[in-house]
Amino acid sequence: QSKRAGRGRYTFYDAALNPAGPKRYALERQLPRAIQDGELVLHFQPKVQLSDMRIVGMEALVRWQHPEFGLVFPGDFIPIAEQASLIGALGDWVMQACCAQQAAWRAAGLAPVPLAFNVSPQQLRDPSLPSRLGKLLRQHGLSATDIEIEITESCLVEPVEVAVKALSELERMGVHIALDDFGSGFSSLGQIRQLPIHKLKIDRSFVNDLRSNSDVGVIVTSIITLAHNLSMRVVAEGVELMDQLVYLKTAACDEVQGYFLSRPVAAEDAAKLMQHTHLRPP
Ligand code: C2E
Ligand code: MG
Ligand code: MG
Ligand code: MG
Repeated sequence: QSKRAGRGRYTFYDAALNPAGPKRYALERQLPRAIQDGELVLHFQPKVQLSDMRIVGMEALVRWQHPEFGLVFPGDFIPIAEQASLIGALGDWVMQACCAQQAAWRAAGLAPVPLAFNVSPQQLRDPSLPSRLGKLLRQHGLSATDIEIEITESCLVEPVEVAVKALSELERMGVHIALDDFGSGFSSLGQIRQLPIHKLKIDRSFVNDLRSNSDVGVIVTSIITLAHNLSMRVVAEGVELMDQLVYLKTAACDEVQGYFLSRPVAAEDAAKLMQHTHLRPP
């Protein structure tokens, strides 16, 4: 799988997953207009706390409502945006859409849970990111804990000082940071222990292998224990089966996210989920 090669080093061998040729060319050419003309939409996936199955957070995931291709997933255009220097504009759109949505949900009196958005390495390297986020929060009457940022290990590559500066500034503002896809890259808990990271998201490849392979169970359990000892919360991504959920609960994982509980859904459906506040396994 191309993702395993690490973010920012995508290969385009799988035409079904990553568009090649004409489609890729069309997407690249049309992306600037799509960002401007409102063809991007956010979908939302709940994070559920295992102790009581309460929805304790939401994650915003961008999609492109393309007039010709239908709903295009981020795997098909985030790499293009990164390569074509459009990730700044795309990321800004996501950040403001996220703040606007969260403000609307707050105004509607829905369960006040943090809304997380994903940030690319290039975005984190933009020194104006924290101040621009601060401005958006003020404009929308939100506090720092209303939103959350998900970064990946590829944000922490050299020169690591740049990322550390941004993360420290966000931390000073009170914004919580989650390390996404943990385990898919090369960082160890030893390396990230000094960074202001509040939450670890265990990559779904581990969760996927939980049922068959007991080694994976040992690894996941150790990650959770170590993370807790470093005062981090742990979220498991990509939970698709009851067995996985049960295993993760036994291993003291704090939160889960995955198709088993809910796929990412449009804003109206996300609001309905939040009205229920608790999610029961289907
Ligand atoms: P991610 O942040 O790790 O998000 C989780 C991905 O796994 C999402 O795919 C989600 O739909 C999918 N997923 C959730 N539960 C399950 C499950 O149970 N099984 C399986 N097989 N998949 C599950 P999606 O929405 O296609 O996003 C893919 C990646 O694109 C994200 O991975 C994130 O890295 C990136 N991305 C999404 N939105 C944004 C954005 O606004 N900005 C940036 N920079 N990147 C984004
Ligand atoms: Mg994420
Ligand atoms: Mg992830
Ligand atoms: Mg992932």
